[in-house]
Amino acid sequence: MSERYLSINSIYKATEGEGINIGRPQVFVRFQGCFVGCVNCDSKDTWAFSDSDQDKWTLTKAIDEIWSLSGEGSLTWISITGGDPLHPKNVPGVEALTKELKKKGFLINIEAAGTRVVPSLFDLVDYISFDFKTPSTNVRTDVALIQKMEQLYKGKFQIKSVVESKTDFEFCQKNYLDLKRQLDRFAFPWVLTPSYNVNESFPEKRFQDVLSWNESNGAHFRVIGQQHKWVFGSSAKNV
Ligand code: SF4
Repeated sequence: MSERYLSINSIYKATEGEGINIGRPQVFVRFQGCFVGCVNCDSKDTWAFSDSDQDKWTLTKAIDEIWSLSGEGSLTWISITGGDPLHPKNVPGVEALTKELKKKGFLINIEAAGTRVVPSLFDLVDYISFDFKTPSTNVRTDVALIQKMEQLYKGKFQIKSVVESKTDFEFCQKNYLDLKRQLDRFAFPWVLTPSYNVNESFPEKRFQDVLSWNESNGAHFRVIGQQHKWVFGSSAKNV
């Protein structure tokens, strides 16, 4: 294995807390570095890039840690997240890691920020969780990227959107209906995640609102909260 340095914030074992794979134990690899800038980001400690190899993991060390945390392959799923694992500075390292993990028989999920489709990587992985950013994030996802995902990765991805307000819900609803008109077949799951912000108490009213808006407006979405925040609190890391 050729040695390579990867910008990794942390590697840890936990149970998937959100999206359609909620409840699945897996090993998470959290890459460091993100320029996307969501205002309600709960991982701002992952934003800074470092150019120093001293702050990085070698590919060998990362593989060893994943192998150990997975119980030598007992946990089959690895989730690559961030930060932004799809930032061009991270993609070569993520690709190298993915190739080595695939050789060991792991299945790979990647968390995509919704800012780019990266076929060289998406072709390698087994599942893609692709964000469709809502107005409350102050970041925009180009709807053409969702169309591209449906063309290239049918059956292999989910869309996830954080919903903070009715404006966010209505934005998702409008774009859902527009896409439905444009695409021949529309089979991917679109998950609404009621926001549960850092240091916030459990937002029961917001959660109830999102459930109600969805139920009353065609029920196009799956509403799935962030289970790990209910269990460990909204500020806990790597859980
Ligand atoms: S893409 Fe992810 S890590 Fe980057 S700012 Fe948005 S929520 Fe935070």
